Amino acid sequence: MKSPFNRRAGLALADPQLRQALRTGTGRMGEMRLKAFESAAAPLALRARAREIRRRTFDDLGRHLETLLASLRRAGVEVHAAPDAGAAHRVILDIARRRGATLAVKSKSMASEEIHLNAALERAGVRPVETDLGEWILQLAEETPSHLVAPALHKTLEQVVDLFRRKVDPGAPSDPEALTALARKALRREFLAAGIGISGVNFAIAETGTLCLVTNEGNGRLVTALPKVHIALMGFEKVVPTVEEALTLLAVLPRSATGQKLTTYFTMLTGPRRPGEADGPDEVHLVLLDNGRSRHLGGPFQEAFHCIRCGACQNACPVFQTVGGHTYDSVYGGPIGSILSPMFRGLEASGELAAASSLCGACQEACPVLVDIPRMLIEMRGARVAQRNISRTERLLFRAAAWAMRRPAAWALSFRGLSLLGRVLGPRLKAGWLPGAAGAWARGRELPFPARRSFRDRWRERQRGAGKALSAVPPAASQERTPEGMLDHIRRQAALGEGLAHGHVPSPSGALPEVEIPDPAERFRREFEAVGGGFFRAASIEEAKARLLELASRWKDRPVAVSGGLPLPAAGWLREAGHEVLESAEGDDRGRLDAAGLGVTGCAWAVAETGTLVLPSGAGRPRLHSLLPEAHLALVREEDIVPHLSALGPRIQGAIVGGAGASCVSLITGPSRSADIALTLIRGVHGPREVYAILLPRGVA
Ligand code: SF4
Repeated sequence: MKSPFNRRAGLALADPQLRQALRTGTGRMGEMRLKAFESAAAPLALRARAREIRRRTFDDLGRHLETLLASLRRAGVEVHAAPDAGAAHRVILDIARRRGATLAVKSKSMASEEIHLNAALERAGVRPVETDLGEWILQLAEETPSHLVAPALHKTLEQVVDLFRRKVDPGAPSDPEALTALARKALRREFLAAGIGISGVNFAIAETGTLCLVTNEGNGRLVTALPKVHIALMGFEKVVPTVEEALTLLAVLPRSATGQKLTTYFTMLTGPRRPGEADGPDEVHLVLLDNGRSRHLGGPFQEAFHCIRCGACQNACPVFQTVGGHTYDSVYGGPIGSILSPMFRGLEASGELAAASSLCGACQEACPVLVDIPRMLIEMRGARVAQRNISRTERLLFRAAAWAMRRPAAWALSFRGLSLLGRVLGPRLKAGWLPGAAGAWARGRELPFPARRSFRDRWRERQRGAGKALSAVPPAASQERTPEGMLDHIRRQAALGEGLAHGHVPSPSGALPEVEIPDPAERFRREFEAVGGGFFRAASIEEAKARLLELASRWKDRPVAVSGGLPLPAAGWLREAGHEVLESAEGDDRGRLDAAGLGVTGCAWAVAETGTLVLPSGAGRPRLHSLLPEAHLALVREEDIVPHLSALGPRIQGAIVGGAGASCVSLITGPSRSADIALTLIRGVHGPREVYAILLPRGVA
């Protein structure tokens, strides 16, 4: 009898549109990943460092979580423990009820998919609106995501057009750009009206209590800036000890996920808005989710928590490429999902997923943090066999194999026989020549040519030694429903992991090599333009003024939002030229800001190697000025350009914890973008469509 996975795989294989979408999507993302790492000075060393960060974090998980709790509370974040999905629902619904919220805007969160939060919100009378374009499409289609970073990867353009015509506008056009504009208009209304913003978390930085979001569209920024209440939901595995380490992980995450050096937005949120800040939420909550995670601390699958959810293993996996994410029947599909799903849902529910792999190792090769997925898949298969959770045919086959394995002569003979048979039948198996079930199995498969020398022969020539025995998965323990209770529980579980094998890739010591940047301003220009920004180098203040007024004149009939503390008197110049100017002192005037054509800001730093602007929030520096207007212009002082992303660590740390402290630090790399409709790159899906920088001569202000 076919397993449920095989039944779903059969349906996927019979869908040519799906197969085409998967081939194109995973292929293109795989190519972009390889290309993106070419720009790193030492890609393997970078990945080994990233892996080391994840490993060390779990070596002392209790301490890092304790630091995170203390830092979050210091920053004014209310932390809630959620041992399971029901507890997370209750916490979130309580907050919604207390605030009288009936509309919640959401940015992409796999944890919220994992706990089916939308259904719980709807039952309680709170309308959830997904705002990531791909997730919104799926919400309209009443489907679940099929990929970790490209949730609507399985949908073709024709299917999206048809959906928009049925659910959004009967006259919806058929090109991705116009469809994206429709989505922007519809979702902007929801952003402005929502009482609650719900987001996931990519990294939670322990030393500062900062919740980080990695996004391209700008919806993550809007969800966490416009509603008066922000609720973040994350599994405890998202903790990262320091800002510096988060930046190292950031250097590998977008490269692996979307082939970008950096996503358009990296948003670092540290508590509610501070006194003097014009915008941002009044309340921030963090829901710390366990939901089956802690029982795997110290067990053979703990390494799966190192995953930073980039989706690269999905793109690299031949099984995923062929059958797609929905075949896995879980929010976490593909190789890492084949481990995470049984961990969270139990072997009985998802144990068969571990068998859905050829163990080719492409997943580990693609993984930015080198998670040893094949090793865990094998362990998972072992656990499943130990539970006898396999079919009778499989059991009989394994019994026969075990019988032969216990008899060296019989095993050697059967290998030789099978090897010979395989070489004779191999070409025919490719064509599905065999009759009946064997033929059906052979169709669509290509058998590798059997080796002439067996593994055992070759193994004899190598050193002996067996892998370290791994401890069994400890049983689930009951948890206290307070953050401290949860922390105690996690500590006890993590202690079981002492001495856990961590693989074989050594981490480089000392500073990582960086690409040399002799002229940071020139490199900044090149990178800024490469991500779609418009760059202008002003030789004098007069030139800067002329360029500013020229840009603003493109939105003559609309207000211009101007932040405070700029190196030039931009607001005065604009007023003199007849523009309506919205200044930061006017507070969170979201309605007028929404109508603004241009937002003018400064920037604390700019990063040459990625073309990134860094904007900490603060008095006179609203978040919305670089977010709501149709275009964003940043005035950049040459002396504020730093060569590398790694140079930002201490600076950002200082901006968060020093002085009044910034509740939000935004790293902006180009205009808002999305490729969620048929992988077509569209600008301005939620944030500014255009981004400009005027580089000011040294010594200005
Ligand atoms: S296991 Fe590795 S490759 Fe797969 S999603 Fe996680 S981080 Fe990415």
